[in-house]
Amino acid sequence: MVKTYNQGSNPNMRRPVVKEEIVTLMREQQAQNKGHLKVLETFAKEHNIPIIPHETAVYFRWLLESIQPKKILEIGTAIGFSALLMADSAKASQITTIERNPEMIALAKENFAQYDERGQITLVEGDAVDLLTRLDETYDLVFMDSAKSKYIVFLPEVLKHLSLGGLVVIDDVFQGGDVALPLEEIKRGQRAIYRGLHRLFDATLDNPGLTASLLPLGDGLLLLRKTADEVVLPD
Ligand code: SAH
Repeated sequence: MVKTYNQGSNPNMRRPVVKEEIVTLMREQQAQNKGHLKVLETFAKEHNIPIIPHETAVYFRWLLESIQPKKILEIGTAIGFSALLMADSAKASQITTIERNPEMIALAKENFAQYDERGQITLVEGDAVDLLTRLDETYDLVFMDSAKSKYIVFLPEVLKHLSLGGLVVIDDVFQGGDVALPLEEIKRGQRAIYRGLHRLFDATLDNPGLTASLLPLGDGLLLLRKTADEVVLPD
């Protein structure tokens, strides 16, 4: 029996926001993961652990190879797939990645011990809610890939720790398309996420201190670039 982890693999990945055949093309025709990244991708699939889908992984490689960020922060490590992909794409970068789930921490530690050849990755154990305020570094890129309703809660601290011109990439912001529907059509159990994502959009998409772009990869990426020293977010 293959162990599955109760990580709540993202059900929205089965409700692609882009035509199925285009998703298939992006997953099958773009260069496949190789070496340890392939091993981790296969492990994640077998054990029902959510990692960034292939089209997002391909985009990350393209982006990180292009911009070569020096300092990266990730919220949501899981087994370390995206952290190792970023390490491979920006070989001079230092990556701090935060994870709170003990089972994921154990797996990530094993994977970093085995595959983080250049010692680029530091795993910080605990809840990002507590840890973000304690960071004393400035990052060029922050990847947020944790609970969707919390993105708006984390954003003020994230922006404080972001360099001018730095980027924030936020994963899974389309809620399988639900974000485009009126609130009344959203199941009660999904409304906190829906509200959190709409607060995130209201705060960022037309903010004079940010350049923002929504990208329909996976379940949606929100890309932010910090263009002012002080970014003012609504209360
Ligand atoms: N970025 C990974 C996948 C992360 S899955 C990859 O693509 O390879 C999301 C992870 O975020 C889960 O492992 C979950 O435990 C973690 N997480 C969710 N909320 C968190 C929080 N507040 N603090 C720390 N980790 C959190």
